[in-house]
Amino acid sequence: MDGQEVILLKDVLDTFFSEDILKEMFNEKLYREVLCDYWKYSMFVIFWIGCNIGSFLNVCIYRLPLGMSLCRPKSHCPKCGHKLSWYENIPIFSYLFLLAACKDCGQRISPRYIIVEFITGVLFAAVYLKIVFCKLPLTSMLLFFYLFSVLLSAAFTDCDLRVIPNKLTIPAMVVIPAYFLLHNGIYPFQPDWKSFSICLANMAGTALVMSAFTIGGKKIFKRDVFGWGDVKYLVVTAGALGWFATLLILLFASVTAMIYMPIYWIFRPKRKKRGFPFAPFMTVYAFGWILFNQYAIPFIKKIMNCYPG
Ligand SMILES: [Zn+2]
Repeated sequence: MDGQEVILLKDVLDTFFSEDILKEMFNEKLYREVLCDYWKYSMFVIFWIGCNIGSFLNVCIYRLPLGMSLCRPKSHCPKCGHKLSWYENIPIFSYLFLLAACKDCGQRISPRYIIVEFITGVLFAAVYLKIVFCKLPLTSMLLFFYLFSVLLSAAFTDCDLRVIPNKLTIPAMVVIPAYFLLHNGIYPFQPDWKSFSICLANMAGTALVMSAFTIGGKKIFKRDVFGWGDVKYLVVTAGALGWFATLLILLFASVTAMIYMPIYWIFRPKRKKRGFPFAPFMTVYAFGWILFNQYAIPFIKKIMNCYPG
């Protein structure tokens, strides 16, 4: 009986996940007929999925740096402990419907919640449009959704508490190489060892260079020029986007931060002691790279052709 069930299960898996069906799922036809023709509608579905993920990211941003569990206790009002029912937990709508206050005690709810939900929704929809119009493989959408979630959470925790929790970056260092190993198909298993090793090499190289930079910087300037959280952040981007994109992100973020930092400290002199959050700048440029690199790549190739070597 057991043997028979196994065979049946294998037949079912073969039918649903056969190579032909996978090819059918990820080929041009799907892009044209389902995604491109209906993109105006599916965009809103993706936006709504993004808003829900954003709602979860709010929980991560608040709880991860404090070392709290993500599942327990359930979402509640921090002042009176009122447990949120399902209709008080709907992304965006609940905030508007509750007029930004707790139903029981009237405690004001930070606009941060609705902002994170909305940004996540918009970014997810933007990634989706990029995938459709640049005809990238559908599976890379999952990678970008995951990466966006990690980087967005890191930007907010860095703003709030000047930390990028290990619970964000360390799992990403496992998930991203695993994605490159498995993105060609889990069943039948078609491991992509080439992408996997490139991803690992990018991560190891970035870890090495950025660690040397951090330790060297501390010795020369006698203070932290770069946090270890930022190093791990860049290892994650290098794994997902490659060393070259990571270098660009670091370069642009550094220049922008250097311009912005003195202005920020003129208006908020008391915050000077707390240090300066760097992750938000890197996150903005990482998003920029993912969404618009199709314009940058030909330009970079052109420059590289003009200046060989
Ligand atoms: Zn309350």
